[in-house]
Order: sequence, then structure tokens, then C-alpha cells
Amino acid sequence: MLKLPIYLDNQATTQVDPRVFEAMKPYFTEIFGNASSKSHRFGWMADAAVKKARKQVATLIGCTDREIIFTNGSTESNNLAIKGTAEANVNKGNHIITCVTEHPSVLDVCRSLEIKDFEITYLQVDKFGMLNLDELKRSFTAKTILVSIMFANNEIGTIHPIEEIGKICKENNVLFHTDATQGIGKLKVSTEEMNIDLLSLSAHKFNGPKGIGALFIRNNHPKIRINSQLEGGGQERGYRSGTLNVSGIVGLGEACELASKEMQSDKERIEFLRDKLYEGLKSNFDRIHLNGHPEKRLFNNLNICFDNIDSDSLMASIKDIAVSSGSACSSEHVVPSHVLQAIGLSKNLIRSSIRFGVGKFNTEEEIDYTIDRFTKEIKTLNGLSFNPKTEYDSVTH
Ligand code: PMP
Repeated sequence: MLKLPIYLDNQATTQVDPRVFEAMKPYFTEIFGNASSKSHRFGWMADAAVKKARKQVATLIGCTDREIIFTNGSTESNNLAIKGTAEANVNKGNHIITCVTEHPSVLDVCRSLEIKDFEITYLQVDKFGMLNLDELKRSFTAKTILVSIMFANNEIGTIHPIEEIGKICKENNVLFHTDATQGIGKLKVSTEEMNIDLLSLSAHKFNGPKGIGALFIRNNHPKIRINSQLEGGGQERGYRSGTLNVSGIVGLGEACELASKEMQSDKERIEFLRDKLYEGLKSNFDRIHLNGHPEKRLFNNLNICFDNIDSDSLMASIKDIAVSSGSACSSEHVVPSHVLQAIGLSKNLIRSSIRFGVGKFNTEEEIDYTIDRFTKEIKTLNGLSFNPKTEYDSVTH
């Protein structure tokens, strides 16, 4: 039986896997101790749970558990990684390289550093949202201390060549941070093979709970030191003071363990559903265009322009399917998406874009319903405002 509404906004957040929820439950009412309490069982048990979770996270990204710092999510991890590196390296340099399509939790941190006399290079992207490695190579200066490039884009799903970027950073002896929020649980991530020095992740993007995440800080070759951004009890080896969110940490650990085991089978199923959705819409409606890279994209992401359709009107008339018209993270301000602008879309095309994010709890029946519902609604709206000219072909960027 089809259950409405249908959730297709899995780039914004995901449903907690019931197995993750089960693993978390005892840590609210039974094992509720403070993981830093050394003098009693409650503390020891909480600490043991944190240790286990730290290993689960480390295993997923191929590092040691000592290199994992728990935070409240990727926003905090990105802030800590970039500000922490900038502050710890003022004697070495003041230049940071990033990309125009990064999440606001990277871009806004960079803007705030500019006010403090840091120089930031914002790499441009092509019409697929892909950066240019030669441009990256040309951007290094004697003052460059950090490169921060996201693993995969949260709006258009484009996956950057992280391994190559890591290699280039290593050759230039510059630290490499990646915001892997959208890649974790979907793509193979290896901090070792990819020469990543700092990596941000957030549990709620891969069926874990909200409000918990981690920052990987390389401890060997090189050993990295960054400045903490919170003063207090000195938890997390001084990098992140504050009582540990034990239940959240357990949930993050469990989500990592499940991702380690099930990533491949999830990929096959979700990719099949995503492709079915795209093919279904394409076959019913010929004026749709894919935003983002056709192949190097997240297997669950579909971001498309429906030529001549206002996506907000479309979404308003399809209330039983949850999708997104721009980046969910900036949706409190209705501004045209900076990512869609960066790939060269006009304001009209940005207004006609919709992001579908398929998740592991979606069914084929839901996808069939979605194709049907969108097709009917678009046909109705098209009847109201039909303009045979297609603007997409004039995208020049
Ligand atoms: N980076 C990316 C790429 C994201 O998609 C998000 C969440 N939309 C964040 C950072 C921030 O994550 P959180 O809200 O969990 O702090």
C-alpha cells in the first residue's frame, strides 16, 4: 500500500534507520552517564560506547580512532577545520583555496577569514559543477596553507576528483580538507588513499541522527595541529570541549557500521530507482534538463530543470511529495541557488529546478507515483504558460 506523503529529499536529511534508533535507545534512559565520569559504572559504560563508535567511524573512512573528533555535525566540523587550520598556521601563510559551489558552512567561514586578512581563492566550476585541476594547480602560492573542496555537491550531486586533489595538495605540501557530508555512506572514502588531512561528516545524511557528526584530523604524516574553537572541559583531546552526546555518537557509529556493510547493495537499489525516476520523467516530458554531471554524480541525486515551469508553483501543487527547489540549508532565505548560478543557469532556469534525493526507504511504487504525479501537474502548468523556446540550450558557462 502506497503511503503518502512520499519523502524524496534525502540530500537535506534522511530517516533514521530503525536499527540505528534501537542501538541508541539504551543511552537515553539506562546508560545515561557522562562519558568523562571516571569514578563509576555509568561513566565507564558510556565511555565504552563512545570508544566503540569511534572505531566504527574510523573503519568507514580508513583512519585510526584517535583521529576522530566528535562534533555536532558538518557545519561545526567545517568551521573547526578551516578556522582551526587558519589560526594555527598564521605564521606559515594566509592563503586558502576553495570552490564556489561549497556549502555555506565553508563559504561563509572563508568570507569571515577574508575580513581577518586571509586571502581566499574561489575556484570556478564548469557547466557540470566540476572544478578544473589545472586551475587548482595554478592557484597555489608560497602562502597557501589549506585547500578545502567538498567530496560531492549537496545540490547537483557532482563528485569532485578527491584522490587527484589530495595528490596535488600533497605535492604542494598543503593541507587538504574535504567536506564529505554528502559522500559518506554513498561513496568509498579513504583518508589514506586519498591523502585527506581533514574530513567533515554528519550522521543525519546517511540514516543516522541529527546533531552529531565528526571531524577527522590526521595524526600521522603529517601530524596536524589545529586551534580549537570551543573552550571548556577539554574533551576530545582538547579539540572540542563539551559533554559528549553519547546517544548521538552511538547512532553515528551504528550508521557507519551499516554503511560499511550495506553501501554497495543500497547503491544498486537506489541508483535503479533514481534512474527510473529520470527516465520516466524524460519519456513523458521532453523539455527537462539534468543539472550536474551526467556520470560523476551521487547515485541518489537528480536535479533537473523543467523548462518554463516555476518549481515553487509545481511543488505547491504537489504537496504529497517532498522534494526541494534549492539547497535546503539556505532555504530560510529565498535566494537563487549559488550552485545553480555557478554552473551558468539563468534566474529563470534556477526557478524551474527541482532536486530529488532518493533514499534507502523509497520504493518502486513511490517512484511510479512520483513520475505520474509530476507529469500530470507539469502538463497542467504547461497548458497555462506555454513558451516553445527553450532557454537551456543557451547556457554558455
Ligand atoms: N556540507 C554539506 C555538503 C551539506 O550538505 C550540509 C547539510 N546540508 C552541511 C555541510 C551541514 O551539515 P549539518 O547541517 O549537519 O551541520
